Amino acid sequence: MDARRALCEVLAATGPRAELREELRLFSPMIGSWDMAITFHRPDGDEVMQGEWHFGWALDGRALADVWISPSRAARAAGARDGEWGLSLRFWDEHRQAYRSTWHGPLRGWLIPFTARRRAEMASYARRHYGVATWRLSAPKVIVEHYSVTATASAVYNTFAPDRADPERHELPGTCAHFVVSRDGTIFQLVPLGTMCRHALGLNYTAIGIEHVGFSDSQVLGSPREFAASLRLTRWLRCLYGIPVRNVIGHAEALSSPYHRERIARLRNQTHGDLARPAMTRYRARLARLPC
Ligand SMILES: [Zn+2]
Repeated sequence: MDARRALCEVLAATGPRAELREELRLFSPMIGSWDMAITFHRPDGDEVMQGEWHFGWALDGRALADVWISPSRAARAAGARDGEWGLSLRFWDEHRQAYRSTWHGPLRGWLIPFTARRRAEMASYARRHYGVATWRLSAPKVIVEHYSVTATASAVYNTFAPDRADPERHELPGTCAHFVVSRDGTIFQLVPLGTMCRHALGLNYTAIGIEHVGFSDSQVLGSPREFAASLRLTRWLRCLYGIPVRNVIGHAEALSSPYHRERIARLRNQTHGDLARPAMTRYRARLARLPC
């Protein structure tokens, strides 16, 4: 048998395993091949792209696999540019009693693990703390800069990827940030921009979070590649969403943001000490020199 057929045969399955039929039923309606019209909302107008999405049972009936192709093969044949051709695997995790999905997008270098449960947890967190029952982050108004108290970006990833209650307040979902900037200036995106993340008490409902690998304000700003990459990323985000320089803040400045709000009284004065005003004054001065 040729390698391609051999792989297809062991990867694809004819149906869910009998003992998982109930758990996996949620996704049954998705099995098959779909044409999609994908809309990208960009600052200079919407872009609509034709795509295709193929869902099937996989891995001996314990999982679902889906392949996302955008633009579609037909659109590419008609001259559309090259695009993403990625894979998701979804399976039921008996131990966690939750679906786990991981998206692999090789073109953009994205590897995104998520669970539906984490979104539900984020929505109830947002209801408790902000009075808005959604996990969606739309039209963010603030960018919060952090440092990670870790030596590497992968340590940040390993802290955020498992959905564990935080050690301070023992709340779910686990903490996270949208991006992490490493010492050599590489930027990793951990969470899609349209998803809320728990990184700054009082601001998560409207703030994008950026982590920086390092142990102090001066370490982050004193690392030329890391600082330059951070400014580039923050400039792009603030220009994308029309966020003024003054609303690019350090975590330590969270309480003085006009957007700070917290429904739980005893948490109203709590924040962290990372990226304090002196460092952020310097940061904002540099950022202001990079116009949109
Ligand atoms: Zn922080």
